[in-house]
Amino acid sequence: MEMISNYIAGAQCPPVAGRYLDNVNPATGEVYGKIPRSDAADVDLAVAAAKKAFPAWSQLPAQERAKPLFKLSELITANLERLAMAETIDNGKPIALARSLDIPRSSENLRFFADLIENFAGETFSDQGKGKNSVHYSPLGVVACISPWNLPLYLFTWKIAPALAAGCTVVAKPSEVTPLTAFLLGQLCQEAGLPPGVLNIVHGTGPEVGTPLTTHPGVKAVSFTGSSATGKMVAKAAAESMKRCSLELGGKNPNIIFADCDFEQAVTTTVRSSFLNQGQICLCGSRIFIQRPLYEKFKLALIEQTKALKQGDPQNSETQQGAVVSKAHYQKILSCLEKAREEGGTFLTGGSAAKLSGPNAKGFFITPTLIEGLGPECSTNREEIFGPVATLMPFDTENEVVGYANSTDYGLAASVWSQDLAKAERVASQIDSGVVWINCWMQRDLRTPFGGMKGSGMGREGGRYSLAFFSNIKTIGKG
Ligand code: NDP
Repeated sequence: MEMISNYIAGAQCPPVAGRYLDNVNPATGEVYGKIPRSDAADVDLAVAAAKKAFPAWSQLPAQERAKPLFKLSELITANLERLAMAETIDNGKPIALARSLDIPRSSENLRFFADLIENFAGETFSDQGKGKNSVHYSPLGVVACISPWNLPLYLFTWKIAPALAAGCTVVAKPSEVTPLTAFLLGQLCQEAGLPPGVLNIVHGTGPEVGTPLTTHPGVKAVSFTGSSATGKMVAKAAAESMKRCSLELGGKNPNIIFADCDFEQAVTTTVRSSFLNQGQICLCGSRIFIQRPLYEKFKLALIEQTKALKQGDPQNSETQQGAVVSKAHYQKILSCLEKAREEGGTFLTGGSAAKLSGPNAKGFFITPTLIEGLGPECSTNREEIFGPVATLMPFDTENEVVGYANSTDYGLAASVWSQDLAKAERVASQIDSGVVWINCWMQRDLRTPFGGMKGSGMGREGGRYSLAFFSNIKTIGKG
């Protein structure tokens, strides 16, 4: 049985109270490990270690801070297969996805921010001979990074890499549902020569670890990725002690398909954007709006390609659809499907639990699902399901579809498909979301700002935006 530990002050350590939680493999439904059920005492130890490490780490020249981060990036790549398998067992995602997306991007996050900090400088503004203002960035202090279960190591490193690069020391909490790769990362930190206390990892639940962390007086900022409901709690807790707070939250993203799109590319990418990682990516498009002349043809092609997705054991390299992350989440998705039925939706494919055999017979699998016949105002089309479920809706005009796209409380991402680029850009500019992709999906450039509008979050992360978040920014003016 896999027994993991916290990583505090450079050492693997058991939780103070000696309590543990079960870790379940969602593809088998079986307990395969134990996770520290840490609490405020462990958070106190971690914050104290981070505080002790801060002066030395924050004063290192950027090039010196970058060295262990580059090394950690290399070690992630060197351990790709081990980390990918850990992610698959913990999360239920297909091993091919963990190998091609999760682990390479985790390595890239560290390499990217190590590189960025080496070349990062504050701006200087000259005022036509009257004077000069220069902007100085200094590390904020001890910060908290809290990440979700859907892209465990990918999102964990997306937060800790800029924090460490900026010169902060970190107490990080991965989701209790998928703690394994964060634990393995702690081991790699030791190998990479990251000084003790610079990164501390505390495992446990939101209420028992997340709350003490977001309310801790020693923590200066919280970078949080997770659901909008938890995000609100984090924002409230942070506000009480005037902590800086960045919130990357949920989405209910529209895919807008105009009749003049590149048909083949739009269909293939829409299937991918609806179902990659079992639909458990905040950027997945869960509402597909199709212009009426193309509706039937597009629908049939979507159904055909969705049915062709290979669902099975996540550890099999051929598998395209694995298990959803946990029993609780599986039940939530099934109840959303029930709700869609009550609301009058027609199921074009899927719509139920998938029954697998052998070791996966008790796993949490859901058949990729397409639904039509529901309007944009019903709860199925307004609330985040975060599973392999997408709806199809017809539209006629540009104005109409912009209204539909903007009709939820979320505003994270959108895709627009049309070969008329002027039209696509016109539509993109009217959609209330932090990112809009034209004729593509999830094309991320790590230098660009990333974040949501409305209920999808507050603040922006990525490139200089992340470094600024983790910095005290001061302007010094000279006459
Ligand atoms: P949750 O909000 O449930 O959890 C996110 C993290 O917060 C977990 O580590 C969780 O711990 C922790 N947490 C829970 N309660 C508290 C609390 N009171 N104080 C502090 N931390 C707490 O999200 P999920 O893990 O369910 O992740 C899925 C959600 O994340 C979806 O809504 C998805 O859209 C969103 N997401 C957003 C992204 C973005 O960039 N905008 C990217 C990816 C996902 P524990 O798990 O142990 O309870």
